Amino acid sequence: MKIHGSCHCGDITFEAEVDPEQVVVCHCTDCQTLSGSAYRTVAPALVGSYKLLSGSPKSYIKTAQDGTKRAQVFCPECGTPIYSGPAGEESTMVGIRVGTLRERDQLPPRKQVWCGSAQDWVQDLSSITKIVSH
Ligand SMILES: [Zn+2]
Ligand SMILES: [Zn+2]
Repeated sequence: MKIHGSCHCGDITFEAEVDPEQVVVCHCTDCQTLSGSAYRTVAPALVGSYKLLSGSPKSYIKTAQDGTKRAQVFCPECGTPIYSGPAGEESTMVGIRVGTLRERDQLPPRKQVWCGSAQDWVQDLSSITKIVSH
């Protein structure tokens, strides 16, 4: 499926192809910190399909406990996270942040990973008071 993404300020735009079956929610503590939220939703781009259309993203290299380095790519103007990928190379395998995508409504997650660090409340939002806008 073809997807179209943009950061919040609009400087960065991109497109890619994703398999909707591969969309995951990640509950790891790095994703909690780096997203500023309870979890992150990620769609892996098909290899080589990610294409930057405008803007100059910056990357932050994150080193995991096992030493794996991953580039966390974001907009230097508005801070929107764009994707993560292997560090030190032009990434062809990138995990796109689903919240940046025009097609986000069509990409519900199929799997949750790192559930050991999931916040308890995220597994059931249905009982929390709902307000349409505020
Ligand atoms: Zn931006
Ligand atoms: Zn994660």
